[in-house]
Parts: sequence; C-alpha cells; structure tokens
Amino acid sequence: MTSVPPIRIRPVNSKELNPSGDYVLYWMTAFRRLGWNFALQHADDLARSMGKPLVILEALFLDYPYASPRFHRFILDGMAERSRALRGFPVTHYPFVERESGESRGLLKSLADKACCVVADDFPSFFLPKLVEAGGRRVGVRLEAVDSNGLLPLSVAGRTFSAAYHFRRFLQKNLPDHLGGLPEPDPFSRPMPLVSGGAGAGMAAELDPLILDRWPPTTEVLLSGDLGELQALTADQSVPAVEAKGGTLPAHDRLSAFLGGVLHRYHNDRNHPDLRATSGLSPYLHFGDISSHEIFAEVARREGWTPVRLSSRADGSRSGWWGMGDGAEAFLDQLITWRELGFNMTHRRDDYAGYDSLPGWAQDTLAVHQGDPRPHLYSLEEFLEAETHDPLWNAAQRQLRKEGVIHNYLRMLWGKKILEWSRTPKEALDVMIDLNDRFALDGRDPNSYSGIFWCFGRYDRGWTERPVFGKVRSMSSHRTRKKVRLEEYLQRFGPS
Ligand SMILES: Cc1cc2nc3c(=O)[nH]c(=O)nc-3n(C[C@H](O)[C@H](O)[C@H](O)COP(=O)(O)OP(=O)(O)OC[C@H]3O[C@@H](n4cnc5c(N)ncnc54)[C@H](O)[C@@H]3O)c2cc1C
Repeated sequence: MTSVPPIRIRPVNSKELNPSGDYVLYWMTAFRRLGWNFALQHADDLARSMGKPLVILEALFLDYPYASPRFHRFILDGMAERSRALRGFPVTHYPFVERESGESRGLLKSLADKACCVVADDFPSFFLPKLVEAGGRRVGVRLEAVDSNGLLPLSVAGRTFSAAYHFRRFLQKNLPDHLGGLPEPDPFSRPMPLVSGGAGAGMAAELDPLILDRWPPTTEVLLSGDLGELQALTADQSVPAVEAKGGTLPAHDRLSAFLGGVLHRYHNDRNHPDLRATSGLSPYLHFGDISSHEIFAEVARREGWTPVRLSSRADGSRSGWWGMGDGAEAFLDQLITWRELGFNMTHRRDDYAGYDSLPGWAQDTLAVHQGDPRPHLYSLEEFLEAETHDPLWNAAQRQLRKEGVIHNYLRMLWGKKILEWSRTPKEALDVMIDLNDRFALDGRDPNSYSGIFWCFGRYDRGWTERPVFGKVRSMSSHRTRKKVRLEEYLQRFGPS
C-alpha cells in the first residue's frame, strides 16, 4: 500500500517482504531530507500499512571518491538538522559516521536482518547506483529503490535526447501527467495509521543493542560540532569546508531570498555574476537537502499558477509553455529541462562520463583538430592553482576552490578554456571532471557530466569551424568580459 506513483518504485532484488520484521528500514543516501521525498514517503507508507515503526539509516562513509572535509561538513550539517528535527518523534533516525574507513560495512545488512523490507534512494550517478545494487544483493529482505529525483519520473523517457529542445518538447507532452502527484511536504504529519495494522506504527523502533554497540549512532554534538576528529579521518585535506552550511533550513533560506527578490529578474540578469541573480541551490539539490518538487511548488504558488495555464503547444519553445512570468519560465527551464536532461542521460547510459559517449560529430571534429597548436598549455596542477595567463579564468577557478561553486556563465567559459588549453580533448575531460568533482559542492551529480560534456558538444550543434575546437562551440574571455558584468567578481576572486 503506497501513495507514491508506482512508476517511481523499482524492485532492486526479488527477495520477500518479512511481515514479522521489527520495522521498515529507509536507507537514506541521496534524498537527504524529511519532506518532499518519495522514497521516505514510500517507506513511511509501508511502515504504516504494516503497523511497524520506521527507521531511517543515514550513513557517511569516509573513503568514497573525492571525499573531503568540504563535502563531509555539508552532509553533517544536514544530518545534525535531521537528528534535531526527529528528536522526540516516533521515527528513529540512525546517523552513522564512520570513524575509520570501512567501519560501516555490515551495518545495512544487520539492520535489514530485523526489518520487514528496505527502501533506498534511486539516484542515477556517482557510486550510488552500484551501492544500492550491492545492498540489494546483501540484504535478506526485499529492497526497493524509489526515484525522487525530479518532476518527470526517470523511467518515463525511454531514450536519451540530443538537445535540450527535444527533451523540452518531450516534457511539454508528458510532464502534465505527473504534475498532479508531487511528494508530501511533510509525510509524518499525515493522519495515523494509513491502514489499520500492527501495534508498532507511530512508535519508535527498538534497535538491537548488539547493533548499537558495534555501530554506535553518531551523536548530534559530534554531527554539528567542529569537524575536529572527523576531519582528521578524511584522507584528502586539500579541500577544506566552505562557509555555506548544508541542510534543508539554509536551502529554504536561499529559496525564499531568491523567490522574494530575484526571480522576477532572473531571465534578464542570470548571466551577469555581479548581479547575483541565480538561486545558488545546486549544492542543496545535489545533496538532497531540497527537492526540485518543492522549488517548483513554491514558484507555482508565488505565481498564483494552476495547470489550466499550461499551453497546449508542445513545440519545445523555452518560454510561454508554463503560462508564468518571464523570470519563472526561465528559471523552470533550468530547474526542470536542463537539470532533468542530465538525469535522463545518467539514468539511461552507464558510460555517461566516458569520452566515447560524446556525439559522433563532436568526436570527429575534435579528432580532426587534435594536432592544432594550442595558444597555451597547462597541466592539471597549473589549472588547479589558478596559474593561467587569464585573470578571468583564474578568478572562476578561485571561486571554485574557495566557495565550492562557479557562476554558471563563467563555468561554461571555465570548461571551454580547459578544452582549449589542454594537450588533447581527453586530457581536458579528465582535468575538468577532476576539478569539478573534487571542489564543487554540486559535483558528482548528473549535471556535472551534462555541464562538462556540453563543453565538448553534447546537447549542442556544430558551429563555425575554428582551431582546436573544430565545430564545437568556442568561448572567449575577451568577449565574456565585454558581454557580462563582472568587475566586482574579478575583485572578489582576484589574486589576493
Ligand atoms: C563545465 C560545467 C560544469 C557543471 N557542473 C555542474 C555540477 O557539477 N553540478 C550541477 O548541478 N550543475 C553543473 N553545471 C550546470 C550549472 O552550472 C549549475 O547547475 C548552476 O550554475 C547552478 O547554480 P544555481 O543553483 O545558482 O543555478 P540557477 O540558475 O539558480 O538554476 C536553478 C537550478 O537549475 C539547474 N540548472 C541550472 N543551470 C543548469 C545547467 N546549465 N545544466 C543543468 N542544470 C542546471 C540546477 O539544478 C540549478 O540549481 C555545470 C555546467 C558547466 C558548464
């Protein structure tokens, strides 16, 4: 019994549900939030319908690729917030932060041994798909993965798209069927029980003391305190924590500030770094602190929008389809069309981060120009240290290192220049993935690869042929400086 659209639920194994288990286990790995989350909602539905308590396991490993104090601090902020929010609540939050690498091995299986079933997050990139598949093999009960990634369920589009335009047209035809079923803002506030069941629904679970002893839940003090001893455990200390805090509350603050003061000018100003006209939400979307469903619902509410305003023209045009203001239309095109285009690719193709996944025309033209002399050549180390001849490129790289983000317009320039100043396109791809995924809070996301591969021609068309780029679109720092407002940006991220 579930209130979640079945199209979002995927059985990961074919094992049986255990009706005499002690609880339903929700394994939170990507959608790290307590509302607007289909996976949590499904787990809660199952718990209610079986009359069992709900346990949320939220673990942090130490040794995943690119692990750093930066990402750990951001994740821990959110974990501490959830721990606080669920204190005294009849739902068990089990935060577990490894104190040594590999310590959490066996925890999922041990918890699942006492569970009726396990519900996991179905996130389509980085190491998470493999983690969930492995979890499905290890546990002895049914494991289901739930897609709470975006407004269009991942399994609706049975193909990838060569351009945003084609995906937009697809969305305009198919998205209306899915707009009615948004996740619950607060699943726990629903009346209890959903279906009369056993005595455990709405009660906190009693966890096996042996499990608690072997894997003691991390205390809120440790979660919210100075990284201290946790930081010392992270192998790579070269990527320090940033000032921005993780969690749903800071995400909500950003969303309110953006909708209240910026959305109305987003379409005009978003490309100008000095005008600060973007939402800054991508790190929160990436770590799951906030859902695109909630952002969409909030935009719609502020616009006084209802589905009757949708245009019947599904012609792929960027504006006019939603029937909202210009700022809202432009913003939703990024949040839904562009964001979910990236999810579509990583969901459908395992090789999404491989050079060979580029369109044939782009590979061909880059191969023709591989031997062209480069105007400048830099190593990974020089890129990393922002030691190029170009003050604008260096400023973008410094922002990435310092704040863990780069303004979108400059991110395009940043990527294009790495392509231009590397020995080969493949070397450029390696450099770009390394820098983006190592330093960007929103890195390791489906949109990391759509953004990076866009620099090499994915989702784009051929342009006038030029040295090095061939027919792939080029960008120039000189033209960017003339076109967008960035004097303050250059000062902020200047060499000093
Ligand atoms: C080389 C390169 C690397 C990139 N790497 C990443 C990455 O690692 N993670 C990531 O989330 N995005 C990436 N992008 C896309 C884009 O730069 C960011 O999503 C955007 O800058 C985030 O800032 P914001 O939240 O203020 O965006 P806003 O303009 O406020 O947009 C709202 C949301 O829409 C989505 N969005 C906006 N622009 C894009 C876009 N071009 N493509 C896909 N989704 C978009 C994001 O989820 C964003 O949070 C990359 C782009 C390039 C060119």
